[in-house]
Amino acid sequence: MVAAQDFSPFTRPEVAPNWVDGRVSQTTHGRRLEKRSPADGTVLCQVTRSDGVDLEAAISAAERAQPSWGAMPAVQRGMLLHDLAMALRARREEMAELVALETGKSHREALGETDAAIAQGLFMAGEGQRLFGRTTSAVPNRHIQIVRKPIGIAGLIIAANTPIANVAWKVFPALVCGNSVVLKAAEDTPPTAWLFAEISAEAGIPPGVLNVVQGLGAEVGAALVAHPKVGVISFTGSTAVGRQIAAVAGERLARVSLELGGKNPLVVCDDADLDNAEQWALLSAFSNAGQRCAAGSRIIVFDAVYEAFRERLIAATQQLRVGPSDDDDLGPVINERQLNNMLAAIETAEGHGASVLVGGKRLDDAAHGDGFYLAPTLIENVAPDDELSKIELFGPVATLYRVPDFNAALALANQSPYGLTAAIHTRDLNRATEFCHHVKAGVAVVNAGTYGSEPHLPFGGFKDSGNGSREPGPEALDVYSELRNISITSNPDRI
Ligand code: NAD
Repeated sequence: MVAAQDFSPFTRPEVAPNWVDGRVSQTTHGRRLEKRSPADGTVLCQVTRSDGVDLEAAISAAERAQPSWGAMPAVQRGMLLHDLAMALRARREEMAELVALETGKSHREALGETDAAIAQGLFMAGEGQRLFGRTTSAVPNRHIQIVRKPIGIAGLIIAANTPIANVAWKVFPALVCGNSVVLKAAEDTPPTAWLFAEISAEAGIPPGVLNVVQGLGAEVGAALVAHPKVGVISFTGSTAVGRQIAAVAGERLARVSLELGGKNPLVVCDDADLDNAEQWALLSAFSNAGQRCAAGSRIIVFDAVYEAFRERLIAATQQLRVGPSDDDDLGPVINERQLNNMLAAIETAEGHGASVLVGGKRLDDAAHGDGFYLAPTLIENVAPDDELSKIELFGPVATLYRVPDFNAALALANQSPYGLTAAIHTRDLNRATEFCHHVKAGVAVVNAGTYGSEPHLPFGGFKDSGNGSREPGPEALDVYSELRNISITSNPDRI
């Protein structure tokens, strides 16, 4: 863990500012939020609490910059985005230090996330060279071009769980399609977005093409969604907020892409390799302190191996090291409010008959007491329709369920308002295939964890996990561009 005092003023601003028109933008009103370290509770920095005036400045800059950015050939835009990805790579250590500091995750994990952001940038930069369209027509002498056009200004709103990956996931595809961007950073991870913007200027992204506003979701986030000049909104966050955004965007017919929550099942069959299943169940439930939309928070185990698997999982969970260093398995959760929400949900579940097998408590010893640490938690005796089975806690909490057979496992996997990812552990090809084709999830996995995605692949969920869009992969281009059908008729007199 890098101590706060090791940061230069550049990487650790006293006030995480907005970034507008290619430079730091100071607000005049002086309203601020406080950003605390999840690892030790100390105040890391103040955060600009943007209002409508601040947003208007960012929208105006984006509006001025978009026409020339959108008119640049996509290949050139891709080249500039390639430079941006390379500039991020050159400063990957610095970015990872910042990510670790603001999230409390280990430097090793933050570096992995930064590298994923770079990989995302490189993939999308390449898409600039592949913005191909169809050209076929059924009519003689008619020459068709299906071309992608930018939408205009993209309003991007992200969650704090993997801050730099979340920035890259949305900014690169929005920009390669020729849009300008106003990014609303998560209030828990403001400096990452700001440093990324700073790097974008160094890399030669023109002023106004990428703008960052800091502040509260309910204030500047909501205003961004409602703004009539924002043509597409891409949101990563909770289903509750996603619904509000969809309603506001729907009213004015703005395009909206929603990447929402999950309550992801991991099924362990009676023929599973239990060593492998145990390893993936632990990673799925507890990596990034369970703060993954793809976290495996419902572990569904066949009766025949339930006791054996339960004992293994309890023992392995008890061994997990909790803390912010590279030697630890998981860190804190992002803020105290989230921690308290989880503790309250666990208490309520216990009141309904749930049994906490491991954890269930805030870690309050000397090493953890000042930070926001929840002991990795396993719970059983929770009914499928209990609240705890349905709500996403977004923390290191997993529930165990016992089922008699495959059909019951599949039915329980699908008994959720969400449908983001799902995994099954089995040696039976038929079971694996059945599961992958019948589980209602955007990602289905055999003999591994409840994954997120890779830069070149579509990711997204069924049901309450999204609204049907898919990012990233080439599919993200459909989120951020309009299709135009151009029809040119040659020699009309000869038709
Ligand atoms: P959240 O919905 O509270 O906040 C997410 C973002 O939305 C923040 O930047 C916040 O400021 C902003 N926001 C809040 N209210 C807003 C409003 N009314 N209008 C506009 N913006 C608003 O979510 P969170 O608790 O910060 O993040 C965790 C959630 O994100 C979980 O549900 C998780 O599953 C989800 N998530 C999904 C994916 C995915 O790809 N599907 C990835 C990561 C996280």
